[in-house]
Amino acid sequence: MSLKKHVIDFLCSRPVQSFINPRLKYNAVIFMLHRFTSENLTTHGHDPELLAECIAYLKSNGRNIVSLDELFLSLTQQSDPIENAVVFTVDDGFLDQAEVCAQTFKNFTCPVTVCIVNQLISQTYWLAESRIAYILESTCKPDIEFYFNQRQFNFEVSNSKDRFSAIKELVFYCKSLPLDKVEQLICILSTELKVEVPNQAPVAYRGMDWQTVRALEGHGVTFCAHTETHPALSAESDERSRKEILESFQDLKCNTSNPSRVFCYPTGRPNIDYTDRDIQYVEEAGFVGALSSIPGYVDLTHRNLVNVFSVPRFSFPDNMLDFKQVVHHLEFIKDQLR
Ligand SMILES: [Zn+2]
Repeated sequence: MSLKKHVIDFLCSRPVQSFINPRLKYNAVIFMLHRFTSENLTTHGHDPELLAECIAYLKSNGRNIVSLDELFLSLTQQSDPIENAVVFTVDDGFLDQAEVCAQTFKNFTCPVTVCIVNQLISQTYWLAESRIAYILESTCKPDIEFYFNQRQFNFEVSNSKDRFSAIKELVFYCKSLPLDKVEQLICILSTELKVEVPNQAPVAYRGMDWQTVRALEGHGVTFCAHTETHPALSAESDERSRKEILESFQDLKCNTSNPSRVFCYPTGRPNIDYTDRDIQYVEEAGFVGALSSIPGYVDLTHRNLVNVFSVPRFSFPDNMLDFKQVVHHLEFIKDQLR
């Protein structure tokens, strides 16, 4: 057993937690999940067994798994601070999230909020990052070299390791571009790598449809707006950013019976992927708050100091040890010691 595991197990033990937890029980945790592993859908991501193990752990350790909107009611002082609150959010609305993830939450009768990209759900669009991955994974060419937006790109794509790092670099680069530029880049990739992108996304990249969304609503799943097409808002014009935010809420309200009143920024780094301008549009659209993707606890003891339009979330860990560190406030203590 490693020293790290010994130390964490000790800090998470009941005697130590009986000292730590009363002092930090109002530090709420919001987890952010993405894709799930599904053999059927040939997708890779979170392990559903680990998720089930983590939910069971929370339940046996007195954690309060609440819905996103319940947390925001508390955060905006319309209800009392919630002790030991944990919230689960899942980004984008892919098919595996309906088939694998929603089922796990249903088994535990736990609330979960899925932040959906409306056009992915309407099946009229597939995300830019999915198309980039699809092209690079499907090509028979060993490499690619091109000039785009005053920058030279060279990638080896002959094996899965090189393809993975090329996809990662290109997807990261796209976070700084408006979507019309991203579309140009996808055209170049498609032409150079000789891969035609079909109109309908293959099953691994497909969204759940509105019918599924409505069926899941009856099983404790809530849906929140995450734009129409998933752009990095700060890279878009005022008009486009405003439209993406406003229309995503309107469409969600038209298609669901109990939409969340919280918005979720695509990619979600404050002052990088969204700015004060976008926060203003979110407020204007009638949302009560919004989610970023930077890690951190939500301090319900000092609710008036929390920026409700930029609330942090922890990425869902890929192992139990890291999960325990978040849940038992060890990340908070580490921050204080830095
Ligand atoms: Zn997203």
